[in-house]
Amino acid sequence: MRGGPDPCWHFHGDLCRIGAIPEVTGMDMSMKLIFEKSIAGRGCDLLPECDVPVAAVGNKFIRNSEIHLPEVSETELSRHYTELMKRTFGVNDGFYPLGSCTMKYNPKVNDEVAGLPGFAEIHPLQPVGTVQGCLEVMKLAEEYLCEITGMEAMDFQPAAGAHGEFTGLKLIAAYHKERKDTKRTKIIVPDSAHGTNPASAAMSGFSVVNVASTKEGYVDPEELRKVVGEDTAGFMLTNPNTVGMFDENILELTKIIHDAGGLNYYDGANLNAIMGLVRPGDMGFDVVHLNLHKTFSTPHGGGGPGSGPVGCKERLVRYLPTPRIILKDGRYEFAEKPLESIGRVKAFYGNFRVVVRALAYILTLGGEGLRNASENAVLNANYMMQKLQGIFDMPFSGHCMHEFVISLEQLKQEKGVSALDFAKTLLDYGMHPPTMYFPLIVHEALMVEPTETETKENLELAVEVYKAVLEQARKEPEMLHQSPAKTVIGRPDEVMAARNPVLRYQF
Ligand SMILES: *Cc1c(COP(=O)(O)O)cnc(C)c1O
Repeated sequence: MRGGPDPCWHFHGDLCRIGAIPEVTGMDMSMKLIFEKSIAGRGCDLLPECDVPVAAVGNKFIRNSEIHLPEVSETELSRHYTELMKRTFGVNDGFYPLGSCTMKYNPKVNDEVAGLPGFAEIHPLQPVGTVQGCLEVMKLAEEYLCEITGMEAMDFQPAAGAHGEFTGLKLIAAYHKERKDTKRTKIIVPDSAHGTNPASAAMSGFSVVNVASTKEGYVDPEELRKVVGEDTAGFMLTNPNTVGMFDENILELTKIIHDAGGLNYYDGANLNAIMGLVRPGDMGFDVVHLNLHKTFSTPHGGGGPGSGPVGCKERLVRYLPTPRIILKDGRYEFAEKPLESIGRVKAFYGNFRVVVRALAYILTLGGEGLRNASENAVLNANYMMQKLQGIFDMPFSGHCMHEFVISLEQLKQEKGVSALDFAKTLLDYGMHPPTMYFPLIVHEALMVEPTETETKENLELAVEVYKAVLEQARKEPEMLHQSPAKTVIGRPDEVMAARNPVLRYQF
């Protein structure tokens, strides 16, 4: 099904098919859903026989209708997922410069390590004496990440970046509360912050105060002075910010907040721009979160497990989630819960194997390797940005960090070609589009983050492709409204998918 604007790609029971209909034979060769492939009685028993006593389950928990599971052979199952895989685009398919998401290549060896039985086949409730190595992994990862960020302690419970923000803000709240400084109810968030920042501040019970950026893309210290006060609980800075700039006034900003009695929060989701070069802890920040699933080698996208650990300075350590791991008489154990702790933010100990990958990544690269990774992330982004300079409109055209922003506003006005059209056309060149329509402060934005794992040749090819698409957009703008033309799935109806998602198969 090509060319049409809406090949229905989400589950619609019998109505929906993904794929092409050969014109010649008229046979329907479109991809079937796994439920449609199911034949009663077929299947592959992958579960071993139960080798533990069967426990009785209360009647109210027992289902009273049969469970509908697809019944297919192992071959069919394997082909089904391979077929699905071919319809998507991943880092192993090509250039994937999705700004702010750091879709870089993650070394396979870290996956191997995380798959070792001693890490993969444990239970969160088994006695600590039997998982000493795992606790050591968490403790070591904590030490290294504290060293990298300049923090005193770090906690791995948060399962994502936004979850880390929530946790970090709860630490700030606990700090003011214990000091009985209850008038501090506001968190200051610049307009160049990642969208999760104001959302997390609101979710953790603060009200959000916006502060505007200068035209160069930095937080304006004068504007910050105007909004800071006795009601300031803290300041959240995404750095590098969402336009890819390192805030050059950073020391002044954190000082303004500290002088007013507030705390500073560093959104370190994009640490691959700075690790090994500068540390949030040395720039006046009291709390930081990292995205291990961006910077530290866990593949992401598609909703896999993530990890958004939160690090903090000494004065906030006792509010961290519990349990904390301690080393006592040569043995790792869980410390008693301190009364000031904000408590748990997730069951058990976070997504442990994401932490294993992070530690493996840190140990294989070493301090120098981590610094090189950051330097290359920044170099690659600047290389591409310079090559596109003067051809594309770039609202913040200084020296960028790991990503840069293009505005297609003029193209939209003159030719009616939007950032979406442009992005969709890139797919026909075998490249994943950059992030679109973000940051919100730039109209028709494309945010390009090449990452440190791309070669110079790939960057140069991408530059040529971007130029070619721009050229085409000027010559035959209508064509771009139809793109992509070569992918299996064209343009899904995003509004319908968001408003009316059909996520269950209707039998
Ligand atoms: C990705 C990102 C987040 C959110 O992380 P999630 O794991 O998606 O919750 C927060 N801040 C910045 C700067 C990010 O790039």
